[in-house]
Amino acid sequence: MNARAIDIDVLAQAVRSGERAALARAITLVESTRTDHREQAQQLLLKLTPEPGAALSNRVGITGVPGVGKSTFIDGLGMSLIQQGHRVAVLAVDPSSTRTGGSILGDKTRMARLSLEANAFIRPSPTAGTLGGVAKATRETIALLEAAGYDVILVETVGVGQSEVTVANMVDVFCFLTLARTGDQLQGIKKGVLELADLVAVNKADGKHELEAKGAARELSGALRLIHPHDALWKPPVLTMSGLEGTGLDTFWQTVLDHRRVLTEAGEFAEKRRRQQVDWTWTMVHDQLMRRLADNPNVKSIRGDVESQVRTGALTAALAAERLLDAFDS
Ligand code: GDP
Repeated sequence: MNARAIDIDVLAQAVRSGERAALARAITLVESTRTDHREQAQQLLLKLTPEPGAALSNRVGITGVPGVGKSTFIDGLGMSLIQQGHRVAVLAVDPSSTRTGGSILGDKTRMARLSLEANAFIRPSPTAGTLGGVAKATRETIALLEAAGYDVILVETVGVGQSEVTVANMVDVFCFLTLARTGDQLQGIKKGVLELADLVAVNKADGKHELEAKGAARELSGALRLIHPHDALWKPPVLTMSGLEGTGLDTFWQTVLDHRRVLTEAGEFAEKRRRQQVDWTWTMVHDQLMRRLADNPNVKSIRGDVESQVRTGALTAALAAERLLDAFDS
């Protein structure tokens, strides 16, 4: 993006009218780490939010290890939703996507049919370093996409570090895709992801694997019952499906809608989004405070000394922390 002044009003209008080039430009702006771009991005977001259409959108998180069939599934689900009149956006959160080799989430070639659709918009993960940076860009991109009229936002991630928690905190419903595993293999599934999941789907339930998948789904249901209390508002169901054959996709989407209905009826749906906004605000405060602390000249001047005193035991960790914070405050 060049340094010429960007007319934010014009850009906002173009995004609202759904112009793809303008949308891509706006997303590049929110992904940029340049100070002037960051300011312009915030002005743009102010003009575009709150977006009335956002209340109708479905924000769906999808996680699963590489090879589980995420892109095949998203391609199939996305096509079926477009046929029903939806406009579908696919985003990715993958802080490791700078690595060479391996599949890149959100890579258009992974969703061959969807990438050709006028009513689909696919964006790979921003490669701007930290998970915090990727999360910020992705959240802001969701707002842009909703302003541009996309009413289904699919956010995919692989279980790298904290990326699942990050995505779960920015979507309405978080879905875990897995393969048929039973008994001991179940132990291999990260417990954390089962706690986050609102929906579990055993994928590749086709051909000779169909029965096996159904058995695995029953075992997973049992495991989930132990995690979620009996009186929980929503008890995550375990589905079986085949992204390749397109079976179970309708049930998957119906479950997403059921989840929304149950939460809405309990007054929890809008509240969940508001809570996510507030939590997100504090996450950003935390991140920025840490950045300012690290850049603070007073802190910089004593940090080496304080750290070596902690190493020798001359200072307790608590006293050292106090010293660093005092330096920051002064
Ligand atoms: P991703 O890495 O999670 O995005 O997985 P892909 O969608 O790229 O799929 C990985 C491999 O599994 C590919 O060879 C797909 O053809 C295959 N695959 C994907 N979905 C299914 C499915 O539902 N059934 C079967 N049998 N194979 C599948």
